[in-house]
Amino acid sequence: MEREDRFLGYNQEKIQGMNRTLVLNLLRKGGICSRTQLAKESGLKQATITNIVNDFIEWGIVKETGFLTGDKGRRSIGISMDQSTFGILAVRLARRGFSIGVFDMCGNPVKIIRRSAAQNQDPETVISSIFKEAVELMRDNSERHYLACGIALPGPYSFKSGRIEIMTGTKGWHEIAIRERFEEALDMPVFVEQDANAAAFAQYWKFEEEHPGEMLLYLAVGPGIGAGIIQKGQILRGRIGVAGEIGHMSVNYKGPKCVCGNRGCLENYCSSRAFVDKVNRKKKALLSFEETAILLKEGDSDTEACFFEICDILAIAIANLMNCFNPSVIILGDEMSHIIPERMLSYIRGKVKDLVLPALYEDTLISTSLLPIDSFVHGAAVVAWNQIFTKPELYFNKYSEDEKKRLTR
Ligand SMILES: [Zn+2]
Repeated sequence: MEREDRFLGYNQEKIQGMNRTLVLNLLRKGGICSRTQLAKESGLKQATITNIVNDFIEWGIVKETGFLTGDKGRRSIGISMDQSTFGILAVRLARRGFSIGVFDMCGNPVKIIRRSAAQNQDPETVISSIFKEAVELMRDNSERHYLACGIALPGPYSFKSGRIEIMTGTKGWHEIAIRERFEEALDMPVFVEQDANAAAFAQYWKFEEEHPGEMLLYLAVGPGIGAGIIQKGQILRGRIGVAGEIGHMSVNYKGPKCVCGNRGCLENYCSSRAFVDKVNRKKKALLSFEETAILLKEGDSDTEACFFEICDILAIAIANLMNCFNPSVIILGDEMSHIIPERMLSYIRGKVKDLVLPALYEDTLISTSLLPIDSFVHGAAVVAWNQIFTKPELYFNKYSEDEKKRLTR
């Protein structure tokens, strides 16, 4: 059955939009392909594909790349995404600094810079340096037309208020209306996402190539702890957008009081800050995270003992998540998972195996990152591209300003 028939009841404009999104995602994943291949993979009529591709060529999204030889020696014109014309600015804000990147339409990094910030630096100072660096980065890569900015923020981020509710270990961020400030300074649409959700999107772009539609859970174990949960390509948000804030899931009801109001929150036991504190208490030292990570890599016994105690608690959290959500894959990310990734993974898998039903364990993949670069800044770019791919006609300059206003209503 033709896709058009299955969506009886939707208006023509909506169907056209959905078809465009579908074709854009096939082009992103497929590299160079032909109109016939796109029709086959999308289930759309050849005439629909021709119209969509014509629009995309006119808007500068795709280009023709010469002839391809297909079945029975038939030749067809190859088309692919033009990866050099458009760009996304991606910003990752973290507790100890920020990253800014330029990404092409397939989500490939063009350039990424990282800057550290002093402990408890005033948010206004951090924001001004981000704007300054972002403008410089776009100037250095000025051959691209920048369509939007994606931002990954440490959560919990409330979509309702547009602000960070808590950033453990920092002050003043909840006063700042992040999206408005960035839109004003950069003069482009800005899409904000909580960092674990953004990283989950980045992982999902990779994962869905082989596992379309399956549930992915990304577990960020860094200075804070959060999870991004993706079901059928969509983030599970909950009412005010804090679903997946598992850093504030209690693992000890008699534990110390947390800033969120609860007791014994996971973040206070398993974050990289908790790890450093634990090692420092044991060694009566004042080490930084980087110094502690070096000790762990070198096999220091005190540091290893602290690290694997943390992994024991993480395994319990992972078993809880498996029972709550039953995802196809759980990906461990952020700085705690980058120090000794293979040993950490095999230790945690061994512990989780004893904590869940055998059928559940055997059917769930537990992995470290599927990506070669920082999932958070990558995720910020994917968040923006996802939005643009949903309504490409708004961003690729085909319609008049009035038409755009009508379409966004
Ligand atoms: Zn808490």
